[in-house]
Amino acid sequence: MKPSQSEFDVVVVGAGFSGMYLLHKLRQAGLSARVLEAGKDVGGTWYWNRYPGARCDVPSIEYSFSFSPELQQDWQWTEVMAAQPEILDYANHIAERFDLRSDIEFSTRVTSAHFRDDEQRWHVTTDSGKEYAARFCVMATGCLSVPNTPQITGADNFAGDVFHTGNWPAEGVDFSARRVGIIGTGSSAIQAIPVIAEQAEHLTVFQRTPNYTMPAHNRSLSDEFRKQAIANYDEIRQQQRESQVGIVGYGFGFGGADNVEPTEEILQTTASERAALVEEEGFVAIRRFADVALDPEANELACDMYRQQISRMIDDPETAEALMPRDYPMGCKRPVIDTNYYETYNRDNVSLVDLRKGGIDTITANGVQTEQGHYEFDTLVYATGFDAMTGALQKIDIRGRSGERLVDHWEAGPRTYLGLQVNGFPNLFTVTGPGSPSVLSNMLVSIEQHVDWITECIEHMRDHQLQLIEPTLAAEEEWVAHVNDVAEGTMFTAPSCNSWYLGANIPGKPRIFMPYVGGVGEYRKKCDEVVANDYQGFVLTA
Ligand code: FAD
Ligand code: NAP
Repeated sequence: MKPSQSEFDVVVVGAGFSGMYLLHKLRQAGLSARVLEAGKDVGGTWYWNRYPGARCDVPSIEYSFSFSPELQQDWQWTEVMAAQPEILDYANHIAERFDLRSDIEFSTRVTSAHFRDDEQRWHVTTDSGKEYAARFCVMATGCLSVPNTPQITGADNFAGDVFHTGNWPAEGVDFSARRVGIIGTGSSAIQAIPVIAEQAEHLTVFQRTPNYTMPAHNRSLSDEFRKQAIANYDEIRQQQRESQVGIVGYGFGFGGADNVEPTEEILQTTASERAALVEEEGFVAIRRFADVALDPEANELACDMYRQQISRMIDDPETAEALMPRDYPMGCKRPVIDTNYYETYNRDNVSLVDLRKGGIDTITANGVQTEQGHYEFDTLVYATGFDAMTGALQKIDIRGRSGERLVDHWEAGPRTYLGLQVNGFPNLFTVTGPGSPSVLSNMLVSIEQHVDWITECIEHMRDHQLQLIEPTLAAEEEWVAHVNDVAEGTMFTAPSCNSWYLGANIPGKPRIFMPYVGGVGEYRKKCDEVVANDYQGFVLTA
């Protein structure tokens, strides 16, 4: 790396899997690139989220890159769903294998990115005041990279240690002999709670909304299974790319309805048949029914089965009742899978505070004051999620043509063409941006597709002596309307659903369904068609 150099073909922001693969592709295309990363090393999500229990919920065989057949053959995943340390090892391995670190500047936060009309270039500024100029700027800033800490009165008064799952100390936290309070029961909390409970003297869980979670049934991969998977990689990758969510399910199949395609109809069953299924198979019995995702009445029957299984699993009836999700459909939020989540509430050292009975008033020096009483502990964990999809982009002062600010363009919610570009912001790309399948998919599949598309677009421009690419306003409007249309009527946009997909977890954020629900296969076809039709919907200028 030449430290003094500040002009590049491309500046990339973020060195998670998106930024890492981008750097590799851009180099292969013979383009000069610099990656700027706020963290001290690569890995993004897997660098920041080191909380106990953190792991992937996509089969590791599939949550991995396909771009290098050698990498794919060499890397040996140890479990069906890998834990955070193993995924971070994988990121580090990629950084070393492709010598990526030499073009990445770590501990460098980008604060602004301005398009200069006179130069037709992006000027990118960092928190240390350094400036970079580039023809293209790619935001690989992540969809879940800005932790959300709710503004609770008195938070600063807490005298003990405070952690956020999304910004966990690299050296880890020893919870032994500690009384711990955790706020939140989303995916992160559901993974962390069973592990913290094993260590801590006592754990108090503050739950505002109970979640729907399915048992992960994670297990080690046998040598034989791994060999077979690696030998079948071409087919697995092809299927992933053509699928709805980028997951074939290779390695899933844990017994019961986990093994069957959802083909049955819950509306055709009787109450006693459903009860018998719960008795036999537990939560996973619900997976056999196709109509649960489509029909609100069917969905409510599934929710009822779900609550029956909670009653069966939890010893204390009051705790069981508190854990039962009500009033919002199953499948409207990001699916959650767990290891020993409900079992943990049968432990003597775990208590649950159902905030539906009275919310948090204040955080005190030694606990949380709720409308139901004061709960004491000495370590506080926020498992309160992220300002998702738009958070990282809107934290940067991004200005496009004529100084237009991205935050203004997105005042009523994010607007993009294909989740790749924004009208008025030429030569700026977003990886897995709002309006693309992104968080509704196996992200590595979506990241590879976006990075390939962006790099090939930049190569095309170079080869045809083109300077600028930008979507038309009409193409952007049409795509935004299409993204909304396909989400309409799904569980995702049910009025009772308050998910981060809709921005509902952040006070004041516009309620817009941000990712594209049309599926990675269809979306890929659309992106390919756009290119085949001479970058339809984009304006490319010489
Ligand atoms: P990230 O990994 O988020 O990387 C973005 C990087 O950009 C970060 O390192 C950040 O520091 C940096 N950055 C942001 N803003 C700036 C700035 N202004 N200046 C400099 N640097 C900046 N997806 C799945 O498909 N399957 C899973 O099982 C799964 N599990 C997950 C578990 C957790 C706990 C979380 C939080 C997310 C999970 N995801 C999962 C989603 C995950 O984010 C993606 O799979 C993937 O890792 C995203 O990679 P990325 O490079 O696009 O973004
Ligand atoms: P999350 O799903 O947004 O959950 C945040 C939790 O905090 C919710 O239970 C929320 O309650 C609660 N909360 C927020 N503010 C609160 C407040 N003021 N008072 C009380 N409770 C409050 O966040 P997450 O668990 O970090 O997960 C985010 C996403 O990251 C996931 O959906 C997934 O995409 C990814 N992830 C994946 C995995 C995996 O298994 N692979 C693991 C972790 C994360 P409400 O529901 O009431 O808002």
